[in-house]
Amino acid sequence: MKKKQIAILGSTGSIGTQALQVIEEHPDRYEVYALTANNRVEELIGQARQFRPEAVVIANEQCYPRLKEALADLPIKVYAGADAISQVVESGPIDIVLTAMVGYAGLRPTMNAIRAGKTIALANKETMVVAGELINSLARQYHTPILPVDSEHSAIFQCLEAQNPVEKLILTASGGPFRTFSKQQLAHVTKEQALKHPNWSMGAKITIDSASMMNKGFEVIEAKWLFGVRPEQIEVVVHPQSVIHSMVEFEDGAVKAQLGVPDMRLPIQYAFSFPQRLPSSFGRLDFMQCHELTFEAPDTDRFRNLALAYEALHQGGNMPCIVNAANEVAVAAFLADRLSFLGMSEVIEQTMQRVAFVATPSYEDYVATDAEARRMAEELLATPGQGCLHR
Ligand code: NDP
Ligand code: MG
Repeated sequence: MKKKQIAILGSTGSIGTQALQVIEEHPDRYEVYALTANNRVEELIGQARQFRPEAVVIANEQCYPRLKEALADLPIKVYAGADAISQVVESGPIDIVLTAMVGYAGLRPTMNAIRAGKTIALANKETMVVAGELINSLARQYHTPILPVDSEHSAIFQCLEAQNPVEKLILTASGGPFRTFSKQQLAHVTKEQALKHPNWSMGAKITIDSASMMNKGFEVIEAKWLFGVRPEQIEVVVHPQSVIHSMVEFEDGAVKAQLGVPDMRLPIQYAFSFPQRLPSSFGRLDFMQCHELTFEAPDTDRFRNLALAYEALHQGGNMPCIVNAANEVAVAAFLADRLSFLGMSEVIEQTMQRVAFVATPSYEDYVATDAEARRMAEELLATPGQGCLHR
């Protein structure tokens, strides 16, 4: 059997390292063709020495000399810069591109990989949030499959039936570390508290998004584009145990759910092996330990970001792109102690009101919108008198 050649964008991150574990479990099926990272050059060197890819790319060009020197004794092509990441995905032998980098930076390489006909294993949900319509039209044009890695979307994908339309998608949400906090308590939470997710160990940005429920808002948008449903057909249910990863309701009222331990290696492996399932040594669900599965409605008064994401989805056009950019700035500011937890929603909402709306954006419009929304969000952060924004 010919081994599938895999490119991992963001190989040093949470998803990237777990994807390498999946590949290690199936050396007869998968081979690493390319690895990319942003700053963590030593980790990238270690991965390259272990997995021997054809190419490695470091986005931060200052790290290039170190990377080049450390791999000089191996036949590995070494590149640096964002353009090189966008180009490496087009390499002939690559079968699957796992988009596991974080944020808007994933958009351009994902578009290039689609144009080159590479199967996309999509972890980078921001790409779908920013430009879902454009991504879908490219995928149709180039007949490129996009397979979900996000656990909720993988769950839905596993529940779908080709011949039967869905009535509703039910996205489960853990509720994050602040599920039971009052608004008053939320006003004073720290980044250390926010970085402690109860069920999943993930990169910093998505962990903050999970605490603020922006992650769930983004997943609603992602679900719309991945599964072609209307926003009214997507329901969010808070399920703190994270045993049910999401559900599909069909026209007869039957509901199918996918259950499992919270381990991202399962959806990563499924995206690689689809339509087959492969054996795995990962943990198994023990129902004797699941004493209760509980469900509650999300509270968009305490978690405004979820409401803002729904609003952006309804408005369409470049509004989700505006929300994504403002959120990236807000999360970075929160992690740098420049903004309070609740201040994040304010920055996002005000940015939504101030950046020009474009109803049918082109790629160039998304690029301009992203830049303008970041500039606006930074300006809001720097404005004196916006006391509520600051800690
Ligand atoms: P991490 O922060 O752990 O890793 C991000 C990776 O992307 C790192 O390899 C990082 O490099 C690289 N990277 C960051 N910024 C850039 C950039 N500007 N250009 C190039 N590379 C960059 O994130 P996660 O693995 O947690 O998440 C990755 C994506 O997957 C996100 O979009 C997230 O929403 C999505 N996702 C993650 C889940 C999870 O369980 N972690 C679950 C579902 C979705 P470096 O290490 O050098 O900084
Ligand atoms: Mg998810």
